[in-house]
This record gives sequence, C-alpha cells and structure tokens, in this order.
Amino acid sequence: MRLEEIYSNYDKIVQSGDLPYLKCRNCNYAFFYIRHICPKCGSKNLEVVKSSGVGKVFSWTKIFRKNETFIYGIVELEEGFRIYCNFADDVKIGDKVKIKISISDNKYHIIGSKLQI
Ligand SMILES: [Zn+2]
Repeated sequence: MRLEEIYSNYDKIVQSGDLPYLKCRNCNYAFFYIRHICPKCGSKNLEVVKSSGVGKVFSWTKIFRKNETFIYGIVELEEGFRIYCNFADDVKIGDKVKIKISISDNKYHIIGSKLQI
C-alpha cells in the first residue's frame, strides 16, 4: 500500500470517529504511527484497520504547566499496539480506557477516558 493510500484510509477512519492502526499482512504486527513499511519485518504489505479503541493504561504521568495539569501516558490497545494519549480522567495502571481520536488544526488529538465497569 502506498503512503498516500495509507494516509487517506487513516483519515477516513478518523473522520468517522474511530481509531485507526496499521497491520502487517505478512507478520500480523500491529502499530499506530503511519509508516509504509512494517517496523518488525520490513514488508510493505500493510492494511489500515479500525480499532475498538478499548485498552488498558500502561503508564501515566502528570504534567504541571502554569495553572494547568495534564495527565499523559501510554495505552495498550486490545489489538496489541500502544499509543500515547492525554487522559480526560485520573487513571491508574491497568484501568480500562476508551480512546477517541479527532483532527483539528491539522493535528491528531488522542484522548483516553476511563470506562466505567
Ligand atoms: Zn511485518
């Protein structure tokens, strides 16, 4: 798949309110950041897939900037890949979260919210 196709398919999934990721058709490796070559096996046989957006908090930290506090960290998704995000709530390692992604000002905004169980 060419890089332009990857970007286009990626954006289509984001526009519909879902979280996209890339999956290698050769070795099944799943990853989030846009690349046109699998980082594990080097294959260009990739597909853009829609994630459930559900995962667990892998790590988190609080960032204090002026009068604001941000909670930032890494989530491990059900499909096996990890992404960085801002958290909307206080979280602990292992908490189940749902990731929402949107585009504004040509940037991806990735927000994790705690799932109530
Ligand atoms: Zn691969």
